[in-house]
Amino acid sequence: MEIVKAVQGNLVHGNPRVCFAAFNSDSRGVHPGDLFWALKGERFDGHDFVSQAIRQGASGVVVQKGYTISVEDRPEIAVIAVDNTLRALGDLAAWWRRQHTVKLAAITGSSGKTTAKEMTATILEMGNKTLKNPGNHNNLIGLPVTLLKLDESHKRAVIEMGMNHKGEIARLTQIADPDTAAILNVGMAHLEGLGDIDGVAEAKTELIAQSSPDAKIILNGDDAVLMRHASQFDREFVTFGMKKGNDIRAVHIETVALNGIRFDLSCGDDTWPIQLPTSGIHNVKNALAAAAIALCLNEPAENIVKGLRTFKGVKGRFQCIPLEGDVLLIDDTYNANPFALEATLLSALKMVNKDGRLIVGLGDMLELGEAAVSAHQEAGSRIAKSGASWLFFMGTHGENVKKGAISAGMPSNQVIISETHDELTTNIIQKTRSNDVIFLKGSRKMQFEKVSDGLEMHFKRSFAKE
Ligand code: ADP
Repeated sequence: MEIVKAVQGNLVHGNPRVCFAAFNSDSRGVHPGDLFWALKGERFDGHDFVSQAIRQGASGVVVQKGYTISVEDRPEIAVIAVDNTLRALGDLAAWWRRQHTVKLAAITGSSGKTTAKEMTATILEMGNKTLKNPGNHNNLIGLPVTLLKLDESHKRAVIEMGMNHKGEIARLTQIADPDTAAILNVGMAHLEGLGDIDGVAEAKTELIAQSSPDAKIILNGDDAVLMRHASQFDREFVTFGMKKGNDIRAVHIETVALNGIRFDLSCGDDTWPIQLPTSGIHNVKNALAAAAIALCLNEPAENIVKGLRTFKGVKGRFQCIPLEGDVLLIDDTYNANPFALEATLLSALKMVNKDGRLIVGLGDMLELGEAAVSAHQEAGSRIAKSGASWLFFMGTHGENVKKGAISAGMPSNQVIISETHDELTTNIIQKTRSNDVIFLKGSRKMQFEKVSDGLEMHFKRSFAKE
């Protein structure tokens, strides 16, 4: 059985010639003929569901060595034992990926991975069937599970690589063996376990270290920390960014509508006009990364132009939602870290017209380790300096944010801390006037989509303005 060899396991029971219909690590989704993979998660251990998977008709199971299972009376069931089921899953995906000639692009960075992946996919899909990871399934489970969906019909694949500890990107790169690999940026995110920004840069540049020598490496040339860390590798890079000197640049950037940016994509002697149906200068950078990937994979430039024009945006990532009463809601509630806040606050400010004010609704930014207190003070100060009229906060760092905002000159009665989503929503509604821009951002666990939903319910969407 090739699987047993690929995962360096032992077939401890069953017929070596068995074939599986599909692979599954969630016992609830197991169908007859499937191979069930017992993974240990934070809350559940898949080994507790092996019997259930077999009852549902699984033809085989992959378990940790030492795990005992009574299937003596079921000779048709294959039991494969491995040292570590997570490691084995990666090994299987690595083997499966190498059975396919698909051109694969990998994307990592502190912020923008999902957006850049979706933009890249819309370009690649113009010419070829493309596999992409769903949502943000970018870890040591999501990435291998995505790769196991590869089949002969896929000519392109684009996958994100996320991490919260050293060594994770290296392992993901070994599994995925990218033909093209992009690092979007290095910022204050997932500091727990990585220490500081240099720790983040070291972890992200594992993508360079582990990519094959033939792979094209794409870097954000405007990111000084990233470029400093990358310079220790003796290889050529393709760079993107706004500044002169980058291989792929955005020039003549203009905001054309509430949900639209236009710019010229410049590469060598070529220039192509790009219309991006989304807002935020950070999204121009994500589009540049997507275009750079496409160019490295020799996609025709017209597919880049057409693909980016049809990009649909991603829920909770700087979505501009016009509300009744000429209020604009920027739903950036998917996630928050200091780096993304800095980038998107600038983009949000640009959306405020001369009669309007900026209202910021911020939630805790998590996973910052020892930097959490100073990062929240800094966030308060940054928001105050941006000229925001109101700062609403919910989370454990209210006092830190307030301290930072007041020290940067914001009157204390303009910083309002709420205990619940409902209270926060009501507080924002009370202070909002016509022409205001409400910018909402918080870490995933803060569930700020409840606030954006509440605001949408109150003000109602104004479709006429879109
Ligand atoms: P990730 O997958 O890396 O978490 P997403 O594409 O899901 O990134 O975007 C999450 C948030 O990160 C967005 O809502 C936005 O606030 C911010 N963001 C997106 N792209 C960038 C970028 N290029 N630079 C800085 N911040 C960004």
